[in-house]
Amino acid sequence: MSFRPPKGTDDIGAPESNLWRDVLGEWERWADLFGYPLVMTPIFEATDLFERGVGTDTEVVTKQMYTFTDKGGRSLTLRPEGTAGVVRAFLDSGAKGPWKGSYSGPMFRHERPQAGRRRQFWQVGVEYLDVEGPAADAEVIELGYRFLTAVEVPGLKVILNSLGDAVCRPGYVEILRRYLAEKRDVLCADSLPIVDVNPLRVLDCSVCAPVLVDAPGMKDHLCEPCADHYTQVKKSLEGLEVPFSEDARLVRGLDYYTRTAFEYVATNLEAAQNAVGGGGRYDGLAESIGGRRAPGVGFALGVDRIILASTRKPEVRVDVYLVSESGPIEALIAASALRRDGLRVDLDTEGRKVEAQFKAANRLGARAVVVVPEDGDDVDVRVGEERARMPVASVAKWLEERL
Ligand code: AMP
Repeated sequence: MSFRPPKGTDDIGAPESNLWRDVLGEWERWADLFGYPLVMTPIFEATDLFERGVGTDTEVVTKQMYTFTDKGGRSLTLRPEGTAGVVRAFLDSGAKGPWKGSYSGPMFRHERPQAGRRRQFWQVGVEYLDVEGPAADAEVIELGYRFLTAVEVPGLKVILNSLGDAVCRPGYVEILRRYLAEKRDVLCADSLPIVDVNPLRVLDCSVCAPVLVDAPGMKDHLCEPCADHYTQVKKSLEGLEVPFSEDARLVRGLDYYTRTAFEYVATNLEAAQNAVGGGGRYDGLAESIGGRRAPGVGFALGVDRIILASTRKPEVRVDVYLVSESGPIEALIAASALRRDGLRVDLDTEGRKVEAQFKAANRLGARAVVVVPEDGDDVDVRVGEERARMPVASVAKWLEERL
């Protein structure tokens, strides 16, 4: 029997898992700072939800879903993304917005695995529903930017575009289709068949990008309300001091995406996998899954890629390593007292040599070492160069001022 995890999945242990906990903890902090409470939805949903919510002609739905039939004959799918489930839960709750929700959890897509592209990967994200104004878009974009900055993603860039709406987009799509039709002989094999079905998606193709530099951009064809919305989003971001650049090629090829589209890029990652997250306004999504009109905006960030890009060092999670000169039982009793005083303590329970115990303290990066001596009731506490002898009951207070 092989002990390897399934292809495209990973086992993540310490010390890397410490960084994961720091990053996910930071996520919770920023979601709270912006007022997005946690919403937890199932990891599997009816397949139909993703077909309608992500789109039947998307790669995610046609090629990447983990779909199975349960014992009751229902077609279910492991969620490939978080938005559809959250919007479904919002509609099911009957809530009237403005409504905010954040999520954090694993997503599943059958992709060709490589660094930063996994079959099980973790996304955090927010959805802000029943909101139409540009300030909502700007708040959402700012939240992602602040969080990614806090977790030390280097070379972070926000890329922005507007996709228009049902009024102005059809006219633009027609102009784009005509432009692409003239370029047929230089388009790649994947793009050719979608020129007529979904020309917007061709703009997104990295292979075709070099031959499409002069393609018409949506932002030059926006109707007045959309142009106004876009201008306000940009003004808000300037006011919030969130730097961004515009890119007419940033599209989300689904019909329900409207107006604002954005992406967060870590320029130190390989170009093909350097998007750490993306989002946009999706005024038509709730209706496309069969609900009422509920305009909204949100994003999803890929934590696997954030971890790859981040220059942050994981927080040391051991406050005290207990070194015992008098055997493991005495050490365990002292550890228990310190743990009940709120210190994070590790120790050797196997009665190994004192030098080996000191080595273990070093390896873990313990912030303090407490030595239980062979005789006497007091313990020896060491933080850096400083040392003191005291009863176990005094250690927590003494360390509080020093750690
Ligand atoms: P999407 O839901 O496709 O808009 O993706 C949002 C973000 O999730 C991307 O920018 C990536 O950071 C991350 N992501 C998407 N697919 C994967 C994957 N297969 N493996 C790792 N991260 C992913």
